[in-house]
Amino acid sequence: MLNANTFPKSFSVSFENIARIILIFLLNLKPLLFIVMIEKNASLKSEDIQVQDAGVTAVDNIVMENVLRPHSLKEYIGQDGIKNNLAVFLPAARKRKEAMEHILLHGPPGLGKTTLAFILAREMGAQIRTTSGPAIERPGDLAALLTNLQEKDILFIDEIHRLRPAVEEILYSAMEDFCLDLIVGKGPSARSMRIGLPSFTLIGATTKLSSLSSPLRDRFGNVLKLEFYTEEDIKEILMRSAGILKTEINDEAAERLSQSSRRTPRIANRLLRRVRDFASVHEHSLIDKNVVEETLELLGVDELGLDATDRKLLNLIADQFRGGPVGLSTLSAAANEEQATIEDIYEPFLLQLGFLHRSPRGRLITDKVYNHLGINKI
Ligand code: ADP
Repeated sequence: MLNANTFPKSFSVSFENIARIILIFLLNLKPLLFIVMIEKNASLKSEDIQVQDAGVTAVDNIVMENVLRPHSLKEYIGQDGIKNNLAVFLPAARKRKEAMEHILLHGPPGLGKTTLAFILAREMGAQIRTTSGPAIERPGDLAALLTNLQEKDILFIDEIHRLRPAVEEILYSAMEDFCLDLIVGKGPSARSMRIGLPSFTLIGATTKLSSLSSPLRDRFGNVLKLEFYTEEDIKEILMRSAGILKTEINDEAAERLSQSSRRTPRIANRLLRRVRDFASVHEHSLIDKNVVEETLELLGVDELGLDATDRKLLNLIADQFRGGPVGLSTLSAAANEEQATIEDIYEPFLLQLGFLHRSPRGRLITDKVYNHLGINKI
């Protein structure tokens, strides 16, 4: 429920007028939300972008990601389980001429959740507005966003597990009944009222399904899990990206690069851009296996895609904690890395490789780590 405390107190006249004033206030709130219209992204082309050889900033990365983002399900490589599901779900929603059911996408970062949300909007011919859990500070911010939606719009909330509880509560009635529940006034004169919303689709994305409260999770009609890609899929993604970037790469080089891409498209594309920089600085017109290997060596990325931080974490567990178990907070302090970074960025792939186990008492490394790092058990 949205409480009247979040609104100005100068209401007089009738109940209807109060409702109107609240709505106008909500619509005029200027929350610090990151709202992007789909057209903005769709209009970006590789020709518009100058890729820098050095000093790559976070903004460059975001721009490049948009350039390389597939725009249709046909271009979206891999994730066959999800595509099969959508092959039924999308035509059914189109046939009913209704907004799609709410969708929850979960999986490690860089696997294509945002990309999929944009593709779904395109396939449905709907507008998409995007924001993220931590960006929505107050219930009023979300209310403003919801009341600005139009019929069949898609609202994409990234990192939905990071929504504040008071904000999350607003979502319950919005998702279920397409309305906002408000309480106007205080004490005995307080009244509850409902404001209708257009029927919209919420697409939530999370890297941590377990952190989502069950009332929120239960309100999604379709929960889709993104899996790590196969090396063949990553190779195909690399070939597609190389084509967009007008970069020549041979088969062997793409295969080698895909082995070190942690089965993650975002990492594959990032490595490709670094390899392309290396090739351009050294005036190679074609990216071959040697160029890939020299670049990866320079970046400290090994043949499994592990970088210096992965190795630091694994070496720490092996040396200081005798292979584990070690708790996340202890590991984070010892490695000087944030817990969230370890949990969200490093662990998922180490778990996938079978290098790490989670137990109730903490993290443990497996024999594979000793073989890979060439170290002995203490
Ligand atoms: P997430 O939201 O899961 O963190 P994104 O959707 O932002 O990941 O994807 C990161 C990048 O990886 C995108 O810019 C896109 O270029 C690429 N990508 C993701 N999934 C695919 C896919 N299935 N096919 C091709 N490229 C993909």
